[in-house]
Parts: sequence; structure tokens; C-alpha cells
Amino acid sequence: MFASSIIYFIPLSLIALIPGVYMAYITDLKGLIFADSMGVITILSVAFVPGFSVTTRKILFNGILYIISTTLLIYLGSYGPGLLYLLGVTIFVVLSMGKKYGYITLALNTFICIFIGFLLYFDTGKFEIVYQFQLDTWIAVSSNLIVLSTVAVFLVPILYDGLQSAILKENYLRTNLEMEDARLKRTVKELHDKNQELEQFSYSISHDLKEPLRMVKSFLGLLERKYKCQLDAKAHEYIHFAVDGAERMQHLIDDLLEYSRVGRTETDKVSVDFDRILADVQKNLSALIDQYDAEIHVDANLPEIFVYKNEVTRVFQNLISNGIKFHKAGVPPVVQVQCSDKNTHWQFAVSDNGIGIPDDKLNEIFEIFRRLNSKSEYPGTGIGLAICKKIVEQHGGEIWAESQMGKGSTFYFTLKK
Ligand code: ADP
Repeated sequence: MFASSIIYFIPLSLIALIPGVYMAYITDLKGLIFADSMGVITILSVAFVPGFSVTTRKILFNGILYIISTTLLIYLGSYGPGLLYLLGVTIFVVLSMGKKYGYITLALNTFICIFIGFLLYFDTGKFEIVYQFQLDTWIAVSSNLIVLSTVAVFLVPILYDGLQSAILKENYLRTNLEMEDARLKRTVKELHDKNQELEQFSYSISHDLKEPLRMVKSFLGLLERKYKCQLDAKAHEYIHFAVDGAERMQHLIDDLLEYSRVGRTETDKVSVDFDRILADVQKNLSALIDQYDAEIHVDANLPEIFVYKNEVTRVFQNLISNGIKFHKAGVPPVVQVQCSDKNTHWQFAVSDNGIGIPDDKLNEIFEIFRRLNSKSEYPGTGIGLAICKKIVEQHGGEIWAESQMGKGSTFYFTLKK
């Protein structure tokens, strides 16, 4: 603080003191020439002469301010600026050197005021102040300086400490926040990289697994065809189980591939009319709709939204086909698609009158390969909802379900506007 004050002080004090020296020369005020010249020399020494400690520089600097103020007061009788200088020095000393030195300046100010009081009382000395002032006026004026100096010595450190601790606290918080922010960004990036790595991994694994599986299946078929007559019924049954297992595995791998392909096939979002998407979905599912005599009701005038078209189509297709598939025995499925505007996003609801889902399973069903029903009752691999979740999250939305056992389920998902 002291260093930066001096940097500002050098040019300002030279502007003030050098013309002062010149004017004092013209008006033959020798005392002022001395005080101003001392001022210039001391300030330049404080700033530029090497070898002094900082405390010495501070003492020199404040000392010259004292000389200037007493010159103004006593020699020139210019009590206003003189007293202001004394108050200024007190504040500057408290700020740059601490409260302890503040007491010294307070004592010095009091001493100067009493000293001048004595000069006035005894009417001695050929100083301007003695010509201009009466003792009672001086007591009234100078006591103000002493009161203000006392306030400065006690108040300035409190204000300064408060300010300093607020700044330190703010700096500490800002640094912590920046560190947390950087850490969070790093973690998000790591998570993103790991996710991509994992997706790439599952994609290549499932892709590579397909070929040996195809071989297993075709050789089992070959075995069955070529050695048909030599194999007994048990052997045929085992081959049948093995082929069935291989087929199921193939479906799982296909599903896994499909899951890892989410987000890879479409590069750009486009503005899509959702009436159109729902019409396409119903066309794609027409065989299933006819098979179960299902009714599909869709809200009129669905919005146009910026999305990955094929992926959102797939979400509706999965949810509606589940609504049809998980119907109650003997009850024709009715599926309803609704849309509501939630300010920041659109919310879609696909509800059915099917078998329902137990409350404690409502979250689990979105996990990959998670199924609640037997394959013989309701075929499927358990990937559909996991794919829906991945697609919805890629659009910055959320997906969840509500259900009542035996009455039906509603699947909600949101898409950011
Ligand atoms: P899949 O349909 O191939 O079984 P999904 O991921 O689509 O796989 O669904 C996971 C499980 O969630 C289903 O096996 C079923 O138990 C349950 N489920 C999904 N949709 C419904 C629904 N509309 N009604 C009742 N249960 C459902």
C-alpha cells in the first residue's frame, strides 16, 4: 500500500511543491522555500535512494508531511490546509504503519496544537499564526483536529481490518470456487471420455461377438443335418437347446449393438412435426395394433420440436408397443399419447390400460436387460426402456413412469424446448 501511494505521490507532490518553491522565491518566503525543497528532496529520496528499510522510508515520508503542515500552520498562518495536512498524516500513518504509530501522531498533533496555543498565549514569535489568531479561536479550531485525529486512530484500523478481512474472504471464496469449477469440469470431461470409451467398447465387443456366434449356430445346424440319423432324440433335444441359446444370445447382442448405436446414427437435430412422428409410429406398428385390436389415441396439434428425428420416433415406438404388449388378458389395449407445455420443456405422457408395474420396480425397468415378466408370457429382451432413457437424456430430458397394478401405466418423458 505504501509503495503504491508513493507512486501516485511523486508526480502529484512535484506538481504541488515545485511551483510552491518558485512562488516562495518570488514572495521571499525563505521558510517556505526550505520546507518545499525539503519536501521534494525527501519524497524523491524515499522513492529512489536504495538502502533504506521500508520503515525508515515511511518515517521520512510522514516526517516531511509534518514539516510541511507545521510550516503551513505556523509560518504561513494557513491554518485550514495545515490542520488538514495533520489529519491526513494521521490517517496515512495509521493505514501504512499501524495503530501504534497512530498514537504517536495523535500525541504529536496535540503537542503542535498546545505549542501554538502557548505562542498565542504569550504572543511571542514573528509568525503569521500569532498575528492572525486569538487563543480562544485557536482552542476551538484545534480541538476539532484532536477529536478527528482520535477518531481516525481508533476508527480507521477497524474499518481497514473489516475491509481487509472481507477482501481476503472474498478472494478465498473465489479461489475455492475456481478450483471447484475446474475440478468439476475435469470430472465431467473424464466422465464423458469414459462413457464414450465404454460405448465404443460395447459396440466393438457386440460387433465382434456376432461372427463366432453365427459360426456356432451354423455348425450346430450342420451337425443336426449331417448326422440326423446317427443322433438319438436326446442329442437332438440338446442341439435344439444350444441353437435356442445361441439365438437368444444373438438377440441380446443385436440389442446391445442397437443400444450402443444410440446417438451415433444422426448427426444433426432437425425441426420435426410430432403429428408426423406419431403417424409414422402408428404405421410402423400397424401389424401389432391389428393383432391385439388396440386403440391408439393421440392429442391433436402436437408441437414442432428440434430433435434427432429417428431417435424420438423410436422412443414413441417402444413406449406404445409396450403399452400394447403388456395388456391385460382379454382386454383390448388402449394407449393414449398426450403432450403438455411446461414452459422450459415439453412433457409427453404415454398411458395404457395394461397390467401395471409394481411401485418398487418403477426405476429398475429403465435398466438395461431388466424385465419383470416371463418371456413366454410377454416376449422381449428388456432393452427398449433403456434405449428410451438414453435417447431422452441425450435430448436433455428425463423419463419416468407411474403405474397402478392391474389398471395401467403412464410413461412420462420431457424434451427441452
Ligand atoms: P421389453 O419390452 O423387451 O421387456 P423394455 O425395456 O421395453 O423391455 O421393458 C422392461 C420391462 O418393463 C418389461 O419387461 C416389463 O416388465 C416392464 N414394462 C415396460 N413397459 C410396460 C408397460 N407399459 N406395462 C407394464 N410393464 C411394462
